Amino acid sequence: MARLIKNKELAGKDMSIIIDGNRVAQEMRSEIKDKVRVLHEERGTIPGLAVILVGEDPASRIYVRKKTEDCEEVGFYSREFKLPADTEESRLLAIIDELNRDGEIHGILVQLPLPKHINRNAVLDAIDPRKDVDGFHPYNIGRLFTGDPFHHACTPYGIIELLKRYNIEIEGANAVIVGRSNIVGKPLAMMLLTRHATVTVCHTRTKNLAEVTRRADILVAAAGSIEMIKGDMVREGAVVIDVGINRRDNGKLAGDVAFSEVVDKASFITPVPGGVGPMTRAMLLSNTYEAALGCAHH
Ligand code: NDP
Repeated sequence: MARLIKNKELAGKDMSIIIDGNRVAQEMRSEIKDKVRVLHEERGTIPGLAVILVGEDPASRIYVRKKTEDCEEVGFYSREFKLPADTEESRLLAIIDELNRDGEIHGILVQLPLPKHINRNAVLDAIDPRKDVDGFHPYNIGRLFTGDPFHHACTPYGIIELLKRYNIEIEGANAVIVGRSNIVGKPLAMMLLTRHATVTVCHTRTKNLAEVTRRADILVAAAGSIEMIKGDMVREGAVVIDVGINRRDNGKLAGDVAFSEVVDKASFITPVPGGVGPMTRAMLLSNTYEAALGCAHH
């Protein structure tokens, strides 16, 4: 796209703009904090988020703790449910039922993955779609296709927000997504299509992947495969969004994009860590705020 190439020229021939997800997420948290103050003063409402964790998965425990800390930072009310791994599905459903009817709670998040004996779909389906701040309820997924869901899934929505805040034009762009998962690739495809991109979704059966990715004005890597996007798979001037969070043998994080090979070709690129990751948490706060705002207006 001419505009994207122009952006690169503006930045200097060999300069790419490294998208700072930490900075944007921080910006969003301070905006939300200000809006929460106003909502409280004007309507007496404090956004409330309930986070439910079943079991002892160490990564999930960290995610839940961070989500609670984020809530504190922006002035939300939050409630944590830490349930043992052998919790029965019916108990979990009963808690969700209570939270659905609880006026202090505007968002309900069930941390995934759930233990094997619990039917994940039954649990997600039980959440009131208005309180489904993860955007995983079938109502919200269906509405993503036909327009106007209550909530959008946080990771793809975070990508849209990053593109917006860096003034990257989506309309008319060739967007290529590598990965078709229900939580990233598929919802992102729909969000980009809604915003008038021409969207291609790739997966493990895609033929000549490099040929397809080289056509991208906006290339999103969401495969969970360490540094699979090499320099020769990216067109000069493309916007490259790396969703991958992979661990190297030495314990360090790496994305799906070979950053050092791609950075000089891209007009914009997200690093890992510090790109898409922080936005996912920020969008959860944004969704919860919007849910509270919706309630305050009814
Ligand atoms: P999944 O494993 O559910 O999906 C991966 C997708 O990528 C599949 O569609 C798969 O194809 C495709 N794929 C995998 N390898 C290749 C390949 N070599 N060539 C082409 N396609 C490939 O992953 P998720 O969507 O859950 O996550 C993707 C990555 O994003 C992970 O690294 C994850 O950690 C990260 N992530 C980051 C988040 C964040 O907040 N930043 C949030 C969520 C995920 P097929 O369908 O054919 O198997």
